[in-house]
Amino acid sequence: MGHADLHIHSAYSPDATTTVRAVLKQASDVGLNVIAVTDHNEIRGSLEAHELAPKYGIEAIPAVEVSTKEGHLVALFVETLPPAGLTLIDTLIHIGRQGGVAIAPHPFNKLPNSLSMEAVVGALTNPCAKGVLKGIETHNMSTQSFDSVAQKLSVYLPLAKIGSSDAHVYWTIGAGRTEFPGKTIQDLRNALEQMTTIPIPYQEEFSPKAILSWIHRMTLRKFGYASDNTSVTQPINTQRMSESFIQKIKKK
Ligand SMILES: [Zn+2]
Ligand SMILES: [Zn+2]
Repeated sequence: MGHADLHIHSAYSPDATTTVRAVLKQASDVGLNVIAVTDHNEIRGSLEAHELAPKYGIEAIPAVEVSTKEGHLVALFVETLPPAGLTLIDTLIHIGRQGGVAIAPHPFNKLPNSLSMEAVVGALTNPCAKGVLKGIETHNMSTQSFDSVAQKLSVYLPLAKIGSSDAHVYWTIGAGRTEFPGKTIQDLRNALEQMTTIPIPYQEEFSPKAILSWIHRMTLRKFGYASDNTSVTQPINTQRMSESFIQKIKKK
């Protein structure tokens, strides 16, 4: 069996604090086989991760967390960015056309940006978007207080059950993960299609600790620091970002 964390944010997300190489280092250190860097409406970090991942002995799926009119959507196996702000159905069509699949992240809660049951059922029954939505997060470490609702309602849905960290700080990567038969990206994709994934919950209450850590690290980010590692073997540390990297991740 392999382990995947399919919802991780890198510093390319304006609200995250980890460089891509630190994401890969941590993912490898906590025993993940497959990851997806899913930055908000931004694909560059994920493409970088896809290229660098073999150095760290893991695989990374090109992915993004795209904002649709009805809420956030994790798109996997995409090479181009679906435009933000489209309807859920149009976004799914965009993802499907490029051979991608989607996961509903942190669903069915009162937070803004979460898909409703109505939206998910609409996506499953719309003939144009059919077969693109494959999974649903029943465990999202960052919004874990809402997990029980997602778990109860997802029982009725023909979707692969997914556990994710939604990590915005490096040390929560893998806290919330998905077990699947096999070890590779292709095995993971098969497991999504066949709904054989098993969500693995985190062992303890992480959210409050993660929020405090996030506030601390976001302050550091404002002053030009990120969680980083300069080589595959070096541990992750708070390090100054280069000027060119700061320019690169600045909101366009
Ligand atoms: Zn989200
Ligand atoms: Zn997210």
